[in-house]
This record gives sequence, C-alpha cells and structure tokens, in this order.
Amino acid sequence: VSRTPRPGRAAIGVDIGGTKVLGVVVDTEGHVVGEARVPTPADPIPAGVGPPGTEVADAVTEVVVRLQVEAGRGAPVGVGVPGMLDHNGFLVFAPNLHSATGSDLAGLLVERLGGEGAAPPVDVQNDANCAALAEHILGAARGTDDALMVTLGTGIGGGIIAGGAIALGARGFAGEIGHMLVDPTGPPCPCGRRGCWERYASGAGLGLLAREGALAGRLPEVVALAGGDPEMVRGEHVTRAASDGDPGARAVMVELGWWVALGLANVTAVLDPERIILGGGLVEAGELFLDPTRRAFLELVEGSAERPPIEIVLAALGERAGAVGAALFAQGGWV
Ligand SMILES: [Zn+2]
Repeated sequence: VSRTPRPGRAAIGVDIGGTKVLGVVVDTEGHVVGEARVPTPADPIPAGVGPPGTEVADAVTEVVVRLQVEAGRGAPVGVGVPGMLDHNGFLVFAPNLHSATGSDLAGLLVERLGGEGAAPPVDVQNDANCAALAEHILGAARGTDDALMVTLGTGIGGGIIAGGAIALGARGFAGEIGHMLVDPTGPPCPCGRRGCWERYASGAGLGLLAREGALAGRLPEVVALAGGDPEMVRGEHVTRAASDGDPGARAVMVELGWWVALGLANVTAVLDPERIILGGGLVEAGELFLDPTRRAFLELVEGSAERPPIEIVLAALGERAGAVGAALFAQGGWV
C-alpha cells in the first residue's frame, strides 16, 4: 500500500477517552515525540454550565497547549471523539460523553486556541476511526486493505478499513458497532436502548458479568480483591485474579470472550475483514482474553471450517492508537 506524499510537518493528536484525555505529538515519520494527559471531565455534567462540549473542549485545550511547547503553536491539531460525528465535525450523539452531545468541538477548540494569532487547523474525527487509521498506517493492520478495528474500552468503538480507506457512511456514522443490539431485553445502555453489544463485551460489560458471578457466590477470590463486597467488583479485579490463575475469574474471561466473539462474528457477516484488530483498555488482559475470543469466534462465524481464517490480533499501538491516528488525520498525506 503506497502512502505518498508523506505529511510535511509534525501534528498534535488528542484522544478523548472514558477516563483520560490523552495527547501526543507525532513527527513526519509517524513517531511519537511528546505526550500529555488530563482526566476526562465527569459525565454527565450538571446542566447550565455552558454550551455543550465546554468542559471537554477545555480539557482538550489544556493538553494541546502543553504539547505546543514541543510541536509549535501552528502545528495542526487532530481530535478523536467517541460518538456519532457527522461529516462537518458536529458531534450529533455521544452516549458515553453526554456533555458534548450536540457540540461543534472543532469550533470550540479554534476559539480557545486562537489567542492573539490565528488558531491552528483543527480536525475532529471519530475516535475508533482514528485508531483504525493509526493501526493501518503504523500498526497491526499494515499490509491489509480490509480490516476491522474494535476498541474495547468503557464502551466499544469500531473503525472499518474497506478497500484501503476508512468507511464513513452516508452521514459519517459508520462503525458504531458497540450499539448493535444483541439482546433487546438486556441491560439498559447509555444510548437509551437495551442490550447493546457494548453492555456485554466492554470494560463495563466485564464488570457486569463479574458482579453477576460474585453475587451468585462463584468468585470468592475476585470478591476478596474488591475488598470483600461483591457490589464493588470491577473488571480489573477479574483480570488480576485471572492472571493469578483463579479458575472462577478465568471462567468469566471465557464468558467475556464469547460475547466479544458474538459481535465480531456479526460484523464479519457484513464486512468480511481479512484481519480484526482489538484495542482499548480491555485488551491489557492479553492472552487471557484473546484465546477464549478466538475459540468462540471459530464457533460463531459463518462457514468457519470452509472460509480462510480471519486473524484476530491485538493493537500494536496500545492506548496511544486513537491519539496517534488523530494526529495522522490532522497531518493529512497518509490517506
Ligand atoms: Zn447502546
């Protein structure tokens, strides 16, 4: 895959995650040469404190200003946001970032970054599309023109690489795979519906599966790690117990892997990817989680024994994928 011409200058990329706003400086070769982070503002924020997106724009601005020391004030800025972003950069709906739903984030940032001179160019993109671009150019999706990026974090994001390009859809909303319905009678989702895939297969989903097991008395080791209260069990307690070899916790990881594979099999029926890249905080559990996912995928995908195998691999750029991809978008010249 040819990627010329290369971008002419360094850029700042910022990824707005569920817990942190992470920024990087990416040079013209795609190397990360600076990093800064602040906590993501609590969500939802009480109404009446400013136009939508105010707090998020303030947090992104803080990160960008810190990185401008390294990159220079004129460096283009890319921002990855979770949710339904239209082709004009308007954040139409963000179920995991309610305070920014209905905001023109690029406009808010240009206002804040302008100061006395002209503001740098600001390019806002969907966060999973950013991760997909970064993995395609620099990471685990190199060498294929048809891949699926899935970010398993607080929620689930999807970035579709089809025919070598990021698929955006008619309005820009393609790849919202976390909100595929897998059980319409399932638990409520922040999007307002029930039983979305991300209720089961995300970090939040792991916590939910674990609390179910804990309350049923199946996870004494995990409950001990959570301080003795089953209601306090979180995903990280399960992954820690599982890596220590606790059979109860390992069973929860197998269950999680089944839910992840269910969604991957459904998306595969639509897209037929050559490779599936898993990123986001959840994949820090590594093989504990990847192995059961691969096994379940083979059982769930159509024509498993007959079709060529589909690789399921971990993202190469880790937690930085979204921020790096946002910088690549801002640089231009890569796609
Ligand atoms: Zn949903």
